[in-house]
Amino acid sequence: MTKPSNATADYRARDAAHHIHAFSDMKSLNAEGSRVIVRAEGSWIWDSEGNRILDGMSGLWCVNIGHGRKEIAEAVQRQMADFSFYNTFFKSTHPPAIALAEKLAEITPPQFNRVFFVGSGSEANDTVIRMVRHYWASLGQPNKTVLIARKNAYHGSTMGGGSLGGMTSIHSQGGLPIPGIHHIAQPYWFGEGGEMSEAEFGNFAARELEKAIDEIGEDNIAAFVAEPIQGAGGVIIPPATYWPEVKRILAQRDILLVADEVITGFGRTGNWFGSETFGIEPDLMSIAKGISSGYLPIGGVMVSDKVADVLYDAGEFHHGFTYSAHPVTAAAALENLRIIEDEKLVDRVRDDIGPYLQQGWRALGDHPLVGEARMTGLMGAIELVPKKPSRAAKFADTGKVGTIARDISLANNLVMRAVRDSLIIAPPLTLSHDEADQLLASARKTLDDTQAELK
Ligand code: PLP
Repeated sequence: MTKPSNATADYRARDAAHHIHAFSDMKSLNAEGSRVIVRAEGSWIWDSEGNRILDGMSGLWCVNIGHGRKEIAEAVQRQMADFSFYNTFFKSTHPPAIALAEKLAEITPPQFNRVFFVGSGSEANDTVIRMVRHYWASLGQPNKTVLIARKNAYHGSTMGGGSLGGMTSIHSQGGLPIPGIHHIAQPYWFGEGGEMSEAEFGNFAARELEKAIDEIGEDNIAAFVAEPIQGAGGVIIPPATYWPEVKRILAQRDILLVADEVITGFGRTGNWFGSETFGIEPDLMSIAKGISSGYLPIGGVMVSDKVADVLYDAGEFHHGFTYSAHPVTAAAALENLRIIEDEKLVDRVRDDIGPYLQQGWRALGDHPLVGEARMTGLMGAIELVPKKPSRAAKFADTGKVGTIARDISLANNLVMRAVRDSLIIAPPLTLSHDEADQLLASARKTLDDTQAELK
């Protein structure tokens, strides 16, 4: 490894001394040293060593409009010049909150006309847990408290969000999950479909919901919560049979459907929301990330008329955050949504850059190391396998090859994320065709280099 510059060494020493990173093993990270990001523009980031790297993950699935848009900085500055903060607790409101709520009602599916603002995706899902239970209690059914979610789902890392998520690594620390959460199988055909066809497995995974409802009892269940496509779990795109079967099951049961759209919202799948891509009609939607393209932290829970009408009749909902509807973050989100609309980024993902990147991405499936290359909209995964064509063949030490490939990708100036032994991407919706070509070339080189490394 080449010696880092003095500037990088200084950043790393100070970072190591005082900064505890999210989701990191601090001892090994400090021994290795973090990558220090000093600049970002469009689809690119720069580190303190002067490397220009294609941001294939849009930061953390959030920078939908690309980095460095001056319009957002200007909108934030304008709002700060008016006022930087006022709350919405005690009979107060303000123009940015009003305008953003109105805009969200316009762009979300028709059942949604009201929003509860929060500061993050985790807070959105914590709000969901309290809100669905409060909804049923308000209807005189206080026993309907259980939330069904899925194994390997990610819904955040607060007590509620981490519990709702189905990641065993998160459950292994801090006394999670909280009671009242039940996890069923995920619709992950490539990894868990066994001998079943994709269509059969989609039905099977959906019917796990039906089984759970029968076991727990409909009278005890508040909601089923799911990401339209599981993101952090490894871009798990459900088989085409999955969501229609879930829909059929829920149509027969009095249980709320909650779509966690924190990743799939705001154009990522080629529609404004993943629910539209999969033809589902949730009662609540968790939103964050792409709502502001990550320029400032903001999220929300979209509340359908069916739920909101009950909640409004039930009096005060004892819930909220200091930064619910923060005026500056709301102004940033509004400007972000204006850009997505004016530049027709949702259409672009559906009709232009989406199909273009998907075609090249799926072609990576011909590589000897790739068991499957899948992508919807602009979120994709490639599954690395030791032997083709079998889906059953897996590398011995799960995650090791994925991590090697991820590091090689960075050396090839492309950010891809490793999940188990797969590589995932979710580039900005503004990605150009030329950048898509560069992404695909770096990804193929990464596969070649990884294969050479494994020999
Ligand atoms: N839900 C989903 C689907 C997510 O992917 C994430 C974050 O990646 C969250 C919730 C949590 O959001 P946050 O990190 O803003 O709390």
